[in-house]
Amino acid sequence: MSSDSKQYLIVGSGLIGRLLTWRLLRLGHSVDLLSRDDKQGSDSAGFIAAAMVSPATEAISTEPMVKEIGLKSLALWPQWLAELPEPIFYQNNGTLVVAHAGDQAEIARFTRRAQHTLDNDDFSVLDKQQLSEKESGLAEQFDQALFFEQESCLDNRHLYQLLTDILTQDKHCNWQQCEDILQLSKESITSLSKQYFERSYDDYDEVIDCRGNGAKHDLTGLRSVRGEVIRVHAPEVDFKHAIRLIHPRYPFYLAPRPNNEYVLGATVIESDDMSEVSVRSGLELMSALYSLHKGFAEARVLEMSAHCRPAMVDNMPTIKRTEWGFQINGFYRHGYLFSPAIINDFLKILDGNLGQLSFGDYYHA
Ligand SMILES: Cc1cc2nc3c(=O)[nH]c(=O)nc-3n(C[C@H](O)[C@H](O)[C@H](O)COP(=O)(O)OP(=O)(O)OC[C@H]3O[C@@H](n4cnc5c(N)ncnc54)[C@H](O)[C@@H]3O)c2cc1C
Repeated sequence: MSSDSKQYLIVGSGLIGRLLTWRLLRLGHSVDLLSRDDKQGSDSAGFIAAAMVSPATEAISTEPMVKEIGLKSLALWPQWLAELPEPIFYQNNGTLVVAHAGDQAEIARFTRRAQHTLDNDDFSVLDKQQLSEKESGLAEQFDQALFFEQESCLDNRHLYQLLTDILTQDKHCNWQQCEDILQLSKESITSLSKQYFERSYDDYDEVIDCRGNGAKHDLTGLRSVRGEVIRVHAPEVDFKHAIRLIHPRYPFYLAPRPNNEYVLGATVIESDDMSEVSVRSGLELMSALYSLHKGFAEARVLEMSAHCRPAMVDNMPTIKRTEWGFQINGFYRHGYLFSPAIINDFLKILDGNLGQLSFGDYYHA
């Protein structure tokens, strides 16, 4: 290894932990990765996520900076995915936004916000004929749609699996599963790293906390926002786009997966409850699904799952310096939307190149 190579400890092997480990390994560094999660990642919000990369439609309900960070990630994802050992499903045909007759006031409001927040060429309004040409299956139910071209989604389960393979096979990565780590300090890090890696705190160039929701004892203001999703196999439905269904309570997304599988999510509930999907949410998710296309009637439910999104007060990510290392957290609904852009910035922070940050607002030294 080169003399510039560093030894990192990363805590948490969810979306951010495993992506960051992968990028650091590619740069020639070594990583000890410690997490309560299994190698599959089933305790991580990123494992059940719809994995939409939707800069414009998310910015409409949040803030313009979301679009800016998201567009940077949208450009980076294909480059990152091309570095994986095999292709994964990445659909960048854009998002169609539709609403049922009863929700016309909602879509009118959404359209006004889009006009106010976005540029004119970020989206177009499609009539029934144009919608039919783009997604004939949707035109059976809807007379018009908004079309956002620069949006994508990816097969997060395949991504997790490939990253697991890469990390477990790389001799510069030592990945151990551990008990819940409630609080980090130089002392607790020494004790954990002795137990799992035969090292101490001083052996690491940096310690990086990627515990998501699990970092609450160390990160003031971190909260959890529950989300529930349904995953189905629908041989009778063949959508080529991601679809957003305007709904008075939740921003529902239908994210396609290979082989006629779809993920529909997600509820947004201010709660740290990680228990199973409620009957009410299950009914709402299923009726939203069936209302999009009658072919979903005979779809098979593969999974219904719930997890919590880690969020700060402003729902934007944060990178914080502590006396023992870095915390990178608060990705909320935007782990896939933000991670390549924010991780690239974080790599510059690790290198001390603060002047080159794209989104320095989220770095608290
Ligand atoms: C229902 C749902 C749908 C979503 N859809 C999208 C979407 O379409 N697009 C998008 O961009 N984002 C989406 N997200 C958001 C995205 O999944 C999160 O922003 C992202 O996963 C956050 O990454 P993270 O690594 O910080 O946390 P996580 O992915 O949750 O990973 C945290 C890891 O740390 C480990 N850990 C936690 N606590 C401890 C502890 N105390 N000790 C040791 N290890 C610990 C966990 O086991 C886990 O492996 C969605 C989230 C949900 C819940």
